[in-house]
Amino acid sequence: MLAERPLVAGNWKMNKLIAEATDFVRELLALAPDFEAVDAVVFPPFTALAATGEALAGSRLGLGGQTMCDNVSGAFTGEISPLMLLDCGAHWVILGHSERRAYNGETDAAINRKVHTALRLGITPIVAVGESAEDHAAGRTHDHVVRQTTAAFEGLTADDVARCVVAYEPIWAIGTGLSDSPPAANRVMEQIRASVAGLEQTRILYGGSVKPENIGAFVAQPHIDGALVGGASLSAQSFYDLMVNARAQE
Ligand code: PEP
Repeated sequence: MLAERPLVAGNWKMNKLIAEATDFVRELLALAPDFEAVDAVVFPPFTALAATGEALAGSRLGLGGQTMCDNVSGAFTGEISPLMLLDCGAHWVILGHSERRAYNGETDAAINRKVHTALRLGITPIVAVGESAEDHAAGRTHDHVVRQTTAAFEGLTADDVARCVVAYEPIWAIGTGLSDSPPAANRVMEQIRASVAGLEQTRILYGGSVKPENIGAFVAQPHIDGALVGGASLSAQSFYDLMVNARAQE
């Protein structure tokens, strides 16, 4: 790990009603009232964002949106403005998650616009990149993730890029239980880090079937600064265990 502290980011996807989200926060804060060795952020669905923001106010637990619009207001039916994220206390956003790319047609160009908007408004983007099983099997991982990474950060200065976080999430590892091996993920992440000026200073997270049992082996790698976690971030106990086991590798 290059970063001072690991980052554990919990992507709840389309899970949790408002009461479930606020219960999670209360339970987590009871388990870990003071967890300075790890940065932790949760990404609830939009409907639970404001209530989750109120529940975690004053704690070190961060809050983020799972996506956002690249415009700040106007005629964009169904979209969520970055100003609305900030209004709920969310200072993070996941951009370019593979599910958004696959099911909502998010393009590299749109993701790039969103990165620019997020940075302009002081929101930290976690930019997700990753190859399909087919690209992986064909040996195209490097070309694919480097192309996605350079496209996402086009037009930004190295200083701006350094304010972002990247998540390397091989699509074949997401939600499958088939995590990449930590050394293999580390090699890809080293290539991502070398692909754009500024990334040498950012946190790069691994994502794809991370659990409390394997997060320690990932953050022990030199280029892995934490994890973006889906399924194992849904229970407060599991999220707490992820934080503890990420911290143990310091
Ligand atoms: C994700 O969707 O970002 C993810 C990594 O999911 P999971 O941890 O469930 O594989």
